Amino acid sequence: MADTDPIQPIHEPAVPFLDEEAAWVRDAADRFEGARAEELLAWALDAFHPRIAISAAGGVDGLALMDMAWRINPDVRVFTLDTGRLPPETYALFEAIRERYGIHVEFEVPDGRDVAKLATAYGPNLMYRSVDLRIACCNIRKVEPLKRKLATLDAWIAGLRREQWVSRRNIAKVELDREHGNIVKLNPLADWSLDEVWDYVRTNEVPYHELFDRGFASIGCAPCTRAVLPGEPERAGRWWWEQDTDKECGIHCSVQLLGTKSDREREAEDANAALGGMSA
Ligand code: SF4
Repeated sequence: MADTDPIQPIHEPAVPFLDEEAAWVRDAADRFEGARAEELLAWALDAFHPRIAISAAGGVDGLALMDMAWRINPDVRVFTLDTGRLPPETYALFEAIRERYGIHVEFEVPDGRDVAKLATAYGPNLMYRSVDLRIACCNIRKVEPLKRKLATLDAWIAGLRREQWVSRRNIAKVELDREHGNIVKLNPLADWSLDEVWDYVRTNEVPYHELFDRGFASIGCAPCTRAVLPGEPERAGRWWWEQDTDKECGIHCSVQLLGTKSDREREAEDANAALGGMSA
């Protein structure tokens, strides 16, 4: 646990028009940027449990966080979005979690009437026909159920990492999730590499998804996820038939970032690099 109290502002907000809640989150983001994932989790569980939960979809990131959090508080809550199109291996994984940790993963499901309407109108595999239809499917099966779940929470924890994809490059470790009622969103692994996550999983014998041993690098719905080829980016197997999309389903990318100190530093570095590139 952090030895300082992030509730107490450590400096005046750098952006004066930020409201009080946003300034508080920004201070926490700055304070925890260099902290270990366990320190951030300990602070968050102390501050928000039981109105905080980890979002887990089957990836190693969420499972590593679950293991860390369980060691801090065995009553930690974990939820998943059961889209109805998950591979069977994902359900086997949640059974393994139940066995190993005694955690009863909370399943959030889509509205059956919306799913029925969409599948009837456009077919069950509409996602391959257009990006708009794919997004409509993600909206009904993921985005709306997530909204319903988060409406019951004050904070949530996700396994996002900055190196995963360009759309995640500027995530902060503590964010204000304006899309979901201004609750707090935590990304304790933001600065971790994939190798570091796997080291944690193997060292601590965390159960992991069987598909990782069959060439998958990211886990999602069965029709929309494939194994990746050697050298391909981590999320290349998600919606692999789409070109020039952000490889997101809308549950993470719409979160408004507040611009932590680390973001500003990265932006400055990018600007410097761009200037260097122009003069070269
Ligand atoms: S990932 Fe594919 S199957 Fe899952 S909700 Fe999105 S479009 Fe539908």
